[in-house]
Amino acid sequence: MDSSGHQLHIFVFPYMAHGHMIPTVDLAKLFALRGLKATIITTPLNAPLISKPIRRTKGLGVDIDIRTLKFPSVEAGLPEGCENVDSITSHDNGSFELIFRFNKATTMLQEPLEMLLQECQPDCLVADLLFPWATDAAAKFGIPRLVFKGTCFFSLCTLECIKLYEPQKKVSSDSEPFVLTNVPGEIKLTRKQLPDGLRQDFDTDYSKLMSEIVESELKSFGIVVNSFYEVEPAYVDYYRKVLGRRAWPIGPVSLCNRGIEDKAQRGNEASISENECLKWLDSKKPNSVIYICFGSMVNFNASQLIEIARALEASKQEFIWAVRRDKKNQEDEEDWLPKGFEERMGGTGLIIRGWAPQVLILDHEAIGGFLTHCGWGSVLEAITSGKPMVTWPVFADHFYNEKLVSEVLQIGIGVGVKEWVAVHGEHVKSEAIETAITEVMVSGQAEEMRRRARKLGEMARKAVVECGSKYSNLNDLVEELRT
Ligand code: UDP
Repeated sequence: MDSSGHQLHIFVFPYMAHGHMIPTVDLAKLFALRGLKATIITTPLNAPLISKPIRRTKGLGVDIDIRTLKFPSVEAGLPEGCENVDSITSHDNGSFELIFRFNKATTMLQEPLEMLLQECQPDCLVADLLFPWATDAAAKFGIPRLVFKGTCFFSLCTLECIKLYEPQKKVSSDSEPFVLTNVPGEIKLTRKQLPDGLRQDFDTDYSKLMSEIVESELKSFGIVVNSFYEVEPAYVDYYRKVLGRRAWPIGPVSLCNRGIEDKAQRGNEASISENECLKWLDSKKPNSVIYICFGSMVNFNASQLIEIARALEASKQEFIWAVRRDKKNQEDEEDWLPKGFEERMGGTGLIIRGWAPQVLILDHEAIGGFLTHCGWGSVLEAITSGKPMVTWPVFADHFYNEKLVSEVLQIGIGVGVKEWVAVHGEHVKSEAIETAITEVMVSGQAEEMRRRARKLGEMARKAVVECGSKYSNLNDLVEELRT
């Protein structure tokens, strides 16, 4: 309530991909737990993914609602019912074309959103970074627009410095490294690791979206970031104090999920029950299991899956593997895994075909490491659970996140991927995967990495208690919205 007794009402509008929707729904819960009314905006086919976690908050007396907008899939040239990036999947050139169409469809949501703003008269609009038009929509109703970013400050700083100095122009080849000296820690990158829009020779649709995003952010009320101060203080300070951006680190948002069901039921329906998963984990020794999952969008082809399976077998580590493959070839179920792999692995490995209850798994003491594609949601969840990582970046901000994990925080070892798969299709051999797994799980440095990771996990938990950094950042933000 503000001083006049008015309950602040906040609209929260996530981009329709699991990696964006999951943390945004957590964010809505956090606002509602602070006494605000939160309304989550989504499309009809995405609503069930949100209503389940929301239903569980009802008993807590929090005020969260869902409103839907019709998604113009067909109008934008997408298949009917395509309302989530999940249904586009693998990142070859064909699916990039579909993602452009998907983003075009989202721009058509501006008008229906404005009608909803007119009807509900909220006090603030929090919208995903991929909805740059949301700043203008909010301005029409005289309310602040906050940009939600599901990435880290390290990656935000790196992107800003690349944009400011364009060092990629000074290197002669795509794979020659350039060094960003204007950001703390002298970050080394190659052009092949940059998002498409930042390569001079790349296409204009993506570049246009990137510049619209930057412009809309500068005009917005500020940025809420799913990270916490203690994990990257130099980069939070650089972004806020040197670059002068208004930004609130309010993560890790996943920590608002305390119960087993809350941790297990985020995003898609899990392909294994909480009980079965916990029973398997409970039977293992502490730090003995590696968990493998590549987020919600990366699906490998059969030959890459076979390399992973060989690496797991050779590493002799126990594992939980959330496995999904390229949807294009799903009909030939047979050659997913090497012949007899599952039988040979017996109780050593738990294979989850489909969606894993990730936070529940990561939080278990049996998990000693996480082989991840370095999506920020997954990286932050691993940090929060105090787990070291085997890093395998694929595209987007994954390469920056990997650098934060392996070079700055020193809690990860890479499998050696050097460039965006979306463009160059890098294939990783089983030997490289096995070496990295062994280093993280059992090498001489494993214990030290685990100790560092555990310490960060403790800091994450401290950040969310009353008077912790996240707690006060969220309070500051709510106070600013109230005035
Ligand atoms: N996730 C999950 N089970 C899965 C795959 C993903 O719960 O089998 C969740 C994961 O916990 C994270 C999100 O989906 O919150 C993935 O976000 P991230 O940023 O890691 O990657 P993206 O999916 O955007 O590539």
